[in-house]
Amino acid sequence: MLLSTPFDFASNHVFINGVWRSPESGQSMALINPSNGDTLCEIAVGDASDIDAAVNAAHAALNGEWGKTTAVERGRFLTRLGQLVLEHVDTFAELEALDVGKPLTQARNDAIALARYCEFFGGAADKVHGETIPYLDGYTVYSLREPHGVTGHIVPWNYPMQIIGRSVGAALAMGNATVLKPAEEACLTALAFAELARQAGLPKGALNVVPGIGAVAGAALSAHPKVHHVSFTGSVASGQAVQEAAAKHVAPVTLELGGKSAQVVFDDVDMDAAIPFLLNSGIQNAGQTCSAASRLLVHRSRHAEMVERLAQGYKSLRVGPAMKDLELGPLISPRQKSLVEGFLGKGRDLTVAATGQIMNDVPEHGAYVVPTLYDDVPASHTLAQEEIFGPVQTIIVFDDDEEAVHIANGTAYGLVAAAWTRDGGRQMRMAKALKAGQVFINNYGAGGGVELPFGGVGASGHGREKGFESLYGFSSLKTVAVKHD
Ligand code: NAD
Repeated sequence: MLLSTPFDFASNHVFINGVWRSPESGQSMALINPSNGDTLCEIAVGDASDIDAAVNAAHAALNGEWGKTTAVERGRFLTRLGQLVLEHVDTFAELEALDVGKPLTQARNDAIALARYCEFFGGAADKVHGETIPYLDGYTVYSLREPHGVTGHIVPWNYPMQIIGRSVGAALAMGNATVLKPAEEACLTALAFAELARQAGLPKGALNVVPGIGAVAGAALSAHPKVHHVSFTGSVASGQAVQEAAAKHVAPVTLELGGKSAQVVFDDVDMDAAIPFLLNSGIQNAGQTCSAASRLLVHRSRHAEMVERLAQGYKSLRVGPAMKDLELGPLISPRQKSLVEGFLGKGRDLTVAATGQIMNDVPEHGAYVVPTLYDDVPASHTLAQEEIFGPVQTIIVFDDDEEAVHIANGTAYGLVAAAWTRDGGRQMRMAKALKAGQVFINNYGAGGGVELPFGGVGASGHGREKGFESLYGFSSLKTVAVKHD
């Protein structure tokens, strides 16, 4: 069965050189709706030969029409593409809700974010300048920002639209030709995006999309000697494999990996302001968010109050099919559900402060788990150290600022952190002390903000995407020294 949308694309095809075609591999697999376990449609399973064809098409694009476009023209393509996404925002939202299990409103927000990325990078394409550099007498020195060439984009299933927008959007703005490998669990919006890019008049070969298995198609893309940069978002283990493969041909990589982010709640917190952020950051997308605040650190003097208020919030959480648009949908798959349940099993020795509720009438084969808030968790406990990737938050109590920083920085990760305090000096100290790629003071972005550079330190990865930083990352700096009289 193929899905029907107002604009047609064949979900069991790959998109290479501007046309839809059957994969060289001849293989397809069922795409499952995690809300009920039903098959949504068949998708192509591309292999190394499909990746090779896509990379060759991208090379041809760089030597053809795409390579000749000006920054202004690339900006126009992206702006038009963003407009088309906005016109079809409901279709994108539905595809993502069916494919990822994301509640419809959250999926719609992601679709709007995809359009925003196209607009942002479209508007910025002609605003990335080199510099003139003072040097010796008789020289003029300047720098040029040039595309890397062919860029590979390996994307996970949790926020396909946002991650495609931030990486493919930036790469196209800088004039790279792209090969996108979406996740095997969720690739419909990647395919829909390719079709709209075709309709927006994007020259052939500038964007190629090959769905496939990570260890096959993803590995082939990162190892391909004609790929000049790889942007990878996903787990630490796969990121390490990608970096190793790319190192063989010395291609730079951006790694956007996992997290165990902390929000630190001090004694002078404005609790009314904090509670919605504390709660939402843990349960958004059923906790399957790299920047989920899965650790909530609280000063002992405000502990009881915070637990009580968060517990109220948890008790009102409803879990059900994505199309019912409740607070939480299912997890992406039965496999993810059993991983999360494994962690819940390891929490048997802990105090449960509150749980949410799975609706009575959910389909039997949906991947639903109960949102769970644990109280007074030792900072060294597995649940406070490992990324769970499900709707589970741990509350950790601290007594002073030094201890708070020690605990907040005490995992292998460093993606996002937040401090809640009215004290201006403490705000500044925390912004410096917290080990993360993004620090929020009295708010929490959970990865949001098209304009805000994003990425990790430590096991959360390296490189930055989003904002202008993304455009620098998807370009290579050339220095030109001219000697003259
Ligand atoms: P994953 O690593 O299993 O898969 C991610 C992508 O990598 C998929 O497209 C997959 O097919 C591909 N892949 C898998 N093995 C590969 C290999 N050997 N070579 C090349 N590609 C390969 O991750 P996942 O379970 O789908 O995603 C969850 C993880 O992603 C979590 O750890 C989460 O924190 C992280 N994540 C990070 C960010 C971020 O921006 N930092 C955003 C979303 C998700």
